[in-house]
Amino acid sequence: MSDLFVLSEEHQAIREAVRAVAEAKIAPFAADVDENARWPHEAAAALLAADFHAPHVPEAYGGAGADALATVLVIEEIARVDVSASLIPAVNKLGSLPLMIAGDEQLKKNYLSRLAHGEGFSYCLSEPEAGSDAANQKTRAVRSGDDWILNGVKRWISNAGESEFYTVLAVTDPDKRTKGISAFVVEKSDEGVSFGAPERKLGIKGSPTREVYLDNVRIPGDRIIGPEGTGFATAMKTLDHTRVTIAAQAVGVAQGALDYALGYVQERKQFGHKIADFQGLQFMLADMGMKIEAARQLTYAAAGRSERGDKDLTFFGAAAKAFASDTAMQVTTDAVQLLGGYGFTRDYPVERMMRDAKITQIYEGTNQVQRVVMARQLLAGVQSTL
Ligand SMILES: Cc1cc2nc3c(=O)[nH]c(=O)nc-3n(C[C@H](O)[C@H](O)[C@H](O)COP(=O)(O)OP(=O)(O)OC[C@H]3O[C@@H](n4cnc5c(N)ncnc54)[C@H](O)[C@@H]3O)c2cc1C
Repeated sequence: MSDLFVLSEEHQAIREAVRAVAEAKIAPFAADVDENARWPHEAAAALLAADFHAPHVPEAYGGAGADALATVLVIEEIARVDVSASLIPAVNKLGSLPLMIAGDEQLKKNYLSRLAHGEGFSYCLSEPEAGSDAANQKTRAVRSGDDWILNGVKRWISNAGESEFYTVLAVTDPDKRTKGISAFVVEKSDEGVSFGAPERKLGIKGSPTREVYLDNVRIPGDRIIGPEGTGFATAMKTLDHTRVTIAAQAVGVAQGALDYALGYVQERKQFGHKIADFQGLQFMLADMGMKIEAARQLTYAAAGRSERGDKDLTFFGAAAKAFASDTAMQVTTDAVQLLGGYGFTRDYPVERMMRDAKITQIYEGTNQVQRVVMARQLLAGVQSTL
């Protein structure tokens, strides 16, 4: 039998293993996590026990050594039952990838092995005045002998307070614009690090989003990630890869909503028929399934490019993220519609999925920014590697 365009047996086994953990140990708590806007500690424990909390960490540092596609499958399957919990592996990859891309061996050894053992890693790029315009950084890092001293405010930091480690972008030379920005590892326990109150959000309520305050935080000189002035380039390269994981979240939540709706329409009766018999609803289901599958294929194709570091990853990462997240928003909204009034209540999971889906269109660059990225790649003549 041909294995053209099918997942390998290894990848299929990973999907099955994650799905089992997600359904048994994460799904039962998803509504409560959302309702009480609390940390999904059951999910965190289950993911750590199964080595799915940061699957991308290489085996050399004690991690599971999952490739980019396997990591996508982990995140997709968790998001299918609870998007908040899927931020655990997604944020751990986002926070630590700068280190994997540009960090020296000693730094990788120290922090990646601790991440593999369960200490979380967040990513601090955004600031109050630096959102889409990420280069407009105000956080400063100044040399003091062999050390660096950091001052500033980072905004919208996922899993802040829960994570032990933070990749922080800071200006080291204000005259050099993006080439004057460097990346550092900051620890939660470093003196001068503190956190704002959790944001009160529409969705992903189980993932705390907080400001991170850096008040004269002194860190050793060897905590810089890569050479001075390379932080912004590393941060952008990181997003090329991790946008694929946001696409995975989007595919997962869309699939979760479709799965729930498929069950519901075959149970609910109106006018003496199952509502699944109405062709108007069948067409909605068909569109939902078709769009999810297109988003999934694009996401897996992007994951392959991430693994190989192909030159068209920038286009594919942006395309997968934008397409899958737009799909997730449409599909989850349609799932609410398929449940009628019941879909609008918290007694059913689809309204949570619709609220959770929204963030995938916003973070790691809004979908407007993804289109800017894609257009630049097209105009620069970057061709598909296939
Ligand atoms: C829940 C949550 C978690 C997050 N987690 C993290 C994290 O862990 N780490 C981190 O660093 N950041 C994080 N972010 C920040 C996120 O990446 C930013 O919110 C996002 O990049 C948008 O920036 P902004 O909110 O300042 O919006 P703005 O940049 O102010 O954008 C406002 C609007 O203007 C549009 N716009 C802006 N520029 C352009 C343009 N050139 N062309 C067309 N339209 C444009 C945008 O698309 C948007 O519609 C998180 C945000 C949220 C809400």
